[in-house]
Amino acid sequence: MTRLEALSERLEAPLLVTNLTNVFYLTGFESSNAALLVQPNGGGATLYTDFRYAESARAVPGVEAQITKRAMMAEIGSKLKGRVQFEADVLPYLEWERLNGGGAKLVATHGLVDDVRAVKDEEEVAKLQRAASIADRGLEALTAETWVGRSEREIAWRLRELLHAHGADGLAFESVVASGANGALPHADPTDQIVGRGTLVTIDWGVRVDGYCSDCTRTFSTGGLPDRLRRIYDICLEAQLRAVAGIKAGMTGVEADALAREPITDAGFGAEFGHGLGHGIGLAVHEAPRLSTESTDTLETGHCVTIEPGIYVSGVGGVRIEDLAVVRDDGVQVLTSFPKELIEVR
Ligand code: ZN
Ligand code: ZN
Repeated sequence: MTRLEALSERLEAPLLVTNLTNVFYLTGFESSNAALLVQPNGGGATLYTDFRYAESARAVPGVEAQITKRAMMAEIGSKLKGRVQFEADVLPYLEWERLNGGGAKLVATHGLVDDVRAVKDEEEVAKLQRAASIADRGLEALTAETWVGRSEREIAWRLRELLHAHGADGLAFESVVASGANGALPHADPTDQIVGRGTLVTIDWGVRVDGYCSDCTRTFSTGGLPDRLRRIYDICLEAQLRAVAGIKAGMTGVEADALAREPITDAGFGAEFGHGLGHGIGLAVHEAPRLSTESTDTLETGHCVTIEPGIYVSGVGGVRIEDLAVVRDDGVQVLTSFPKELIEVR
C-alpha cells in the first residue's frame, strides 16, 4: 500500500494537505507552492501547483496534476464542494478565507497525515540511521581537536565543516554549543564565549541526509569538574539509560517521559528538567509523537523518537544526553552510537 492509499483509508472526508513536508511525504513532490487534495476510500488525489513546477508535478505517479495561479487557494476553493478537511495547524487565516470563498464546507483538522508519517518504514529507518551515523562520525572528529580556548561559535562552525566532510547534505538545525553557565539554557545559540577548563560543554547537533534528520546531544567535560556538575551528569545519564531500557510500543508519551523524570525528580532536580523527554523525528526535526508530561500520544512500533533528559542549573551549567531511537515491539533500537560516559576533551 502506498502512503497516499494508507492516508486515504483513514479519511472520512476529503483532506486538503497544505503542509509541504506532508505533500512531499505522500507524493515525493518537492516544491515551495503546492496543495494535495486526497479523497477518502481510495478515491484518488489531485496535486495543485503553479507553472514553475508543472513538469515535475505531471511526473508524479498516482495523482492528477492541476496547474493553478501562483496564489492558489481562491482557485482551489472555487473547485471544491461538500465537506473538505484542511490542516488547521498550517493554513494561514488569510489563505483559509480565500479557500472558504467557494462552495465547500471547510472542516478544521490536524495530525491526520502526521500520524501516518510518524510510523517509519524500514527504508526511512535506514535513512535516519545513515544520518545518525554521519553525525556521530562528525562529532568524533571534533573531539580529537582542542576545544578549550576556542569560542562556542567557532566550535559550532568547525562541527558544521566536519559534518559536511563526513557526508551530511546539510544541518538538520543550527548546532547548540553551550559551555559553562550557557549550558543551563536548553536551546542556547553558540556565543563568542571562550570554552574554559573545569566545566561542561553541551553539543546538540543533527544532520540531514536524503531529507531525513538526525538529532543527538552529548555533554563533555573540559577536565577538573566540580562535584556538583559531575553529579548532575551522572543523574542525567542514569535517567537517560532508564528511559532507553524501558520505552516500548504501547506505552503512552507520558509513561515514557516518567521513566527519566522520576529519577531526576527523586535526586532533587525535577524543576531543573523543564522540557519533555523527547519528540518524533523524520523529515522534520520535530514531529509526532511527543514524549512529555502533556503528551496525548501512544508509542507504536516504527515511531522514531529522541530520548533526551536534561538538567539545567541556572548560573552554573547544564547537561543533556540525547539519543535517536526506533520504537520496536519489545523495546527501542538506538540509532546513535556515540558513547555516553562522560568524555573529557582538551
Ligand atoms: Zn537535539
Ligand atoms: Zn531533540
